[in-house]
Amino acid sequence: MGWYEDKLRELGLLKGDTLFIRVGMLLRCPTLYLASDRVDSIMYRGVEIHEIAQTIGRRHGYLPEYEVRLELGEKLVLVGHIDLLHPETNTIVEVKTTRNPEKKVYSEYLLQVSIYKWMLEKLSGEQWYPYILLVHDVSLYNPSLRPDIENALATATKHPVWTIEYTTVNLVAPTTTNPEKLVQEKTSLYYKQFRRNKTLPRIPGKYCEYCPLKDKCREYLKTEKT
Ligand code: SF4
Repeated sequence: MGWYEDKLRELGLLKGDTLFIRVGMLLRCPTLYLASDRVDSIMYRGVEIHEIAQTIGRRHGYLPEYEVRLELGEKLVLVGHIDLLHPETNTIVEVKTTRNPEKKVYSEYLLQVSIYKWMLEKLSGEQWYPYILLVHDVSLYNPSLRPDIENALATATKHPVWTIEYTTVNLVAPTTTNPEKLVQEKTSLYYKQFRRNKTLPRIPGKYCEYCPLKDKCREYLKTEKT
């Protein structure tokens, strides 16, 4: 399978004969993940914000960067990394930064937490409570930032929680959808492509600008012409 297989192995997406699909590959162009193993941190400006939220989260009993793995079939595993997971209250929090003045929760964020919730419920048989912590585009030195994150993370552990707006962050309790059909369809497509020695699909979108392949990607270049 040449470079493709080598790349999957290098990125830890192929171990032995088992294919590991990351949750992000179901949300965006999956080939983006082959282009860079740092794709999440390249795309998001919020690295420092994540670190602040994770430091505060630890004080409240959250586990940061929690890895969850769900076997979807023989030799096929779905892997997610949850920003913050509270094992006693079954709370999960995804931290997002936004420049959007409407402080909008994009459907992609909703799908991401829906997939995490679904995975955890499949694995544990218990109910899980997902939240999105939407951090507004503020300076890291804004005096309200840390107290607002602290209050939001503490509040998220007390269910039920409704959407709450703080000065610098919103805590959003989304109504999640059932992502099972989408997960099954996409993962089986990727798996078949891989077994047939074909590369993953290329799906142009807002993340192309961060993709190291964009100057050579036919699908992206086609969209540039239109
Ligand atoms: S340029 Fe866009 S469509 Fe092409 S591989 Fe990168 S992310 Fe995918």
